[in-house]
Amino acid sequence: VIRPKHIRTHLALWYSAILGGILITVALGVSLFFLHGLREEFDRTLSESFERGARHLEISSTGLFGMRKPEPTPKNPNRDFANEIPIEVFSSSGEHLYQSAAWKNARLSETAPGNFSERFIKSIQSSAGERFRVVTGHHSIGTQDLVVRVAASEERIWHEVWELVSIFLFAIPVALILSGIAGYWMAAKALRPVEIMSRRAQAISAENLNERLPVQNPEDELGALATVINSLLTRVEKSFEELKRFTSDASHELRTPLQALRSVGEVALQSEQSSKYYREVISSMLEETDRMSKLTQSLLSLSRADSGNFKLNRTPTDLNSLVKEVNNLLEPLAEEKKQSLITGPAEEAQVNIDPVVFRQAVMNLVDNAIKYSPRNSQILSQVSRDNGSIIIEVRDQGPGIPLEHREKIFQRFYRVDKSRSRELGGAGLGLAITKWAVESHGGTLELKCDPTGGSVFRICLDESVGI
Ligand code: ADP
Repeated sequence: VIRPKHIRTHLALWYSAILGGILITVALGVSLFFLHGLREEFDRTLSESFERGARHLEISSTGLFGMRKPEPTPKNPNRDFANEIPIEVFSSSGEHLYQSAAWKNARLSETAPGNFSERFIKSIQSSAGERFRVVTGHHSIGTQDLVVRVAASEERIWHEVWELVSIFLFAIPVALILSGIAGYWMAAKALRPVEIMSRRAQAISAENLNERLPVQNPEDELGALATVINSLLTRVEKSFEELKRFTSDASHELRTPLQALRSVGEVALQSEQSSKYYREVISSMLEETDRMSKLTQSLLSLSRADSGNFKLNRTPTDLNSLVKEVNNLLEPLAEEKKQSLITGPAEEAQVNIDPVVFRQAVMNLVDNAIKYSPRNSQILSQVSRDNGSIIIEVRDQGPGIPLEHREKIFQRFYRVDKSRSRELGGAGLGLAITKWAVESHGGTLELKCDPTGGSVFRICLDESVGI
């Protein structure tokens, strides 16, 4: 099967094929109806002819059959029905009795009609190929019962039908060609926006992701498609921008400790120093490398999360023990600032989560609380149940987070106070990782503010993760 390359050709062909089918059916119907009508009229005249022919039959004294001549008229003084009406007469036993001159001229067959009761009409062909309608019926002259046949050429009818068919044969192809052209033009016009859209889409690349497809009529199907593609482009552009920002932020974050390492090393190499000095330099270098390794670890976690094929390794876990474990791990840091890590009254919470990922999430929250709260403050971690949810709260007595920063602190590399956060060893990735970790478990992470100051980070898990 040859498939047209363009939809418009396809549509135009279908359009013409369907229209052709309809026109041919209509033409056939009209022709048959016309033939039927003409034939009905013809058969009525034929019956009259039969009556007239039969009425004018006569038998001579010698028993021979003939046709009585009609009254001569001025116009037609020598009128003779024998020449006008093709008529044939049989006896009731089938014996051929008479044939008019017109019948002979028409060269019609003379087989005797079989038995019949009612008058009937049928079509026959003469030996010259001419089509005739023949009416056969009984007729009596005196006591003699006869079978009479009267014929009439129906070539005129066929001629008229053929004329009609020829008009159709000419008109239908012309109509089809015109409709094909009109269909092609209409389809091309309707599909023009697609062409424009595809040309525009081809021109869109990473450099001009802000461009959009033209929407001519947002109400129609093509407009809806363009709108959908445009919103897809908006999403792609947004993630592309995020990715770009992430990459540039990440390289920036890595550059700072690298530069610090380099300058500390360079300064130490400039002159001969005491071993105590070198020891200090090495330990500060180790601190920087430590920060870098933490940062790369965080970047790795996020990029694994972004790749989409990260699979949670869910196991039944007791949340209370998990929180205690985090507190134990971070206890030394809190002790440095004389802070106390406390856990609230424990409510039973067995859940089906990935303990490694989730521990990291809680650890980031408690670590932030330690970093940003003042010395001698308290940090409360609590597991509770509320209305079908399991809640983990980390509450501190720190400065809280100003309103304008609350939405943004979950973004990657976002820090309220950049220099202070860096000083404290943060790169602004902790909350982003926590948010991903919680959301990948189907939960939510919110920041509440304690009326007494301080921040409250609240993880909310659906009870369905429980076991
Ligand atoms: P960082 O590594 O800088 O701590 P995070 O993503 O963990 O990055 O936090 C983002 C920012 O949110 C921090 O820089 C800090 O300004 C703010 N923040 C986070 N937790 C707290 C908290 N408990 N108290 C006050 N500010 C906080």
